[in-house]
Amino acid sequence: MTAKAKPSHTFVAVAAGLAALALAAPSARAAAVTWMINEDYQQRDARDATDFHMFLAGDVGARITGGGTTGVTNPFADPKVAIGKTMIGNTQVTFSGSNKIAMDPKANRHFGVYGSGAKPAVRLKAWSYATSPFLQPVPVANLGFSYSPSTDTMTVSVQNLSDDQIAASDVGFLVFSSEQPIEALNRTSLPPSSFNPISFLDHQYGVGDQASFTLTGILPTDFVVAYATLQFAGLSLANGYGDGTAGEWAQVSAASQAVPEPGLWAQMVLGFLVLGLAVRRRRRLVGLALLSGLALAAQPAAAWERGNHAGDWTKGGTIKVAVDTPPGDAAQQAAYLEAVAEAMAEWNDAQKPFGGLKLVLTTDPNPDVRVRWANKAAEWGSVAPGKGPVVLTQEADDGLNARGVTRSLKHEFGHVEGLGHSAASALMKADAYSSTPGQAPSAADLNSADPFIGPTADDLAGKKALWGTVEKLSKSTASSTTSFGGGLWHYDYVLQALAGYTDPVTRFTLDLPHGTQLGDLANFLLPQGWAVQFFSGDVTRSGPEKFLDDEASSPSLLSFYALSSSFGLQPGQLDEFGFASLLSPTMTRAFTNSPSYDSDESQVSAPGIPEPATWALMVLGVGLAGAALRRNSRRSPSGEAVRAAD
Ligand SMILES: [Zn+2]
Repeated sequence: MTAKAKPSHTFVAVAAGLAALALAAPSARAAAVTWMINEDYQQRDARDATDFHMFLAGDVGARITGGGTTGVTNPFADPKVAIGKTMIGNTQVTFSGSNKIAMDPKANRHFGVYGSGAKPAVRLKAWSYATSPFLQPVPVANLGFSYSPSTDTMTVSVQNLSDDQIAASDVGFLVFSSEQPIEALNRTSLPPSSFNPISFLDHQYGVGDQASFTLTGILPTDFVVAYATLQFAGLSLANGYGDGTAGEWAQVSAASQAVPEPGLWAQMVLGFLVLGLAVRRRRRLVGLALLSGLALAAQPAAAWERGNHAGDWTKGGTIKVAVDTPPGDAAQQAAYLEAVAEAMAEWNDAQKPFGGLKLVLTTDPNPDVRVRWANKAAEWGSVAPGKGPVVLTQEADDGLNARGVTRSLKHEFGHVEGLGHSAASALMKADAYSSTPGQAPSAADLNSADPFIGPTADDLAGKKALWGTVEKLSKSTASSTTSFGGGLWHYDYVLQALAGYTDPVTRFTLDLPHGTQLGDLANFLLPQGWAVQFFSGDVTRSGPEKFLDDEASSPSLLSFYALSSSFGLQPGQLDEFGFASLLSPTMTRAFTNSPSYDSDESQVSAPGIPEPATWALMVLGVGLAGAALRRNSRRSPSGEAVRAAD
């Protein structure tokens, strides 16, 4: 819950919020078309629809350069499009015309806009109706794009946002070296069959399911056009498989998402990679060389509070959120619905790395969560402890503006997902947003024109505390081996970065049993551009090296790391790491990290406590090597770095 401050909730910040909106200047990019949102929706309400709305994240109205007024992009007769700013600073695009559109869950209504700069995220799509002004969300699906200029990869994702099962087919893409005119990209002139198919995405998706594919060799000057055909396969609309075909497509410029380095593109070869391409790079042996000691700050992990609903949900599950008709006029209602969508986006963004939960808007009469509106309630927001459905009550008056409602809802949805109050979270601490620590926030605090708190590290920590790591994005493959020869055990690890990363794997770490020392290890085998660190003593994930390990603090660690991200393992890439030791193998854990994602742990053989047999061998045959190794072995109790000599 968010308690209300006793004395001072006022209506101060409404004007301030509007001033901030006016200050948010539009991007000054050229007006070239670099993205297009062109989607099909179904009118599923018994009431005739008078308008269709898209809410785009951010103030992007000035970057919208077309769409919405032709038969292709607006199914209303005498089509019109209006672009405005919402009360919380997003952009609302309203499609309308001289007629109304009746319910037909099998007919697709085609809406589109296009513009310049980076493609904005679509926060909410909604119809408005003749007999009730309350917008009804009509989620279907999203195509999303993310471009990494450091790796020249673009990831295109498709997600089922509908209330039904959908089957995706004819998923494909085209890469152009120059921008294509919108007219040349309509579905008549450029049918799905002309796209490069992504066949492994052609299957059935549950509500909320997401899949993505990665295109490599995308130059910052390229334009990527993606297309997906969606068929409703679910039962809730009595749609048989194959009925209600919809589609979505988009053109996005890579450059619109990142500024390129001009010198680099020219020599690059355009190519496509989907999955599993193994690129083995040059590797080298490095000698054992001690560099400076490394201090390690062992901090206790943040304590996370479980909330009432921590046990309610299934990992990976979808939470259907129904919204009661908000009070106020149509604009006010739209603002409240947008606030709910914005708060849901906060948590959906935060959980992406963990596959924890997916919040979706629904008009289902049996939702998991129901959002109710209160006037002059005791608290700004509250979440009832019971289930079936979970009731979230949000103040809709009492001096709160749309930004205040949005901030409160962002906190309350954290409770819905299972988090309690924690001082470790800017969003989930009991006095979140308050300008006076320890006190509940005032309306002015909540109404602030400051930017919203995004999905922050503390959100991630909370989500991870509840759900742990789900996505397995790297692995130490089965070809990792341990062998004995020349008087030493040889440990050879083959690490693979799986598809799905948006960043390269830059660290690969082995847990080692307590007591293992750097001097017990020798003859490191590393990819070019990698180095080794050794840590002795308890290490936690909150230390300066940010080990993203799910487990409790580790005893000793051997960690391979890339000297820069450009040396890291790209998605699909394999590389080899190794060393030798007198110590015999024991099963232990390995894990990786990347800037965005944790990895699943792997069980690997790593040096353990010497067994009698090992000692016997040492005594018999390898005295010299062993002595040389062990002379180095009792060093600093904290971290030591080993780096290639050349
Ligand atoms: Zn709370």
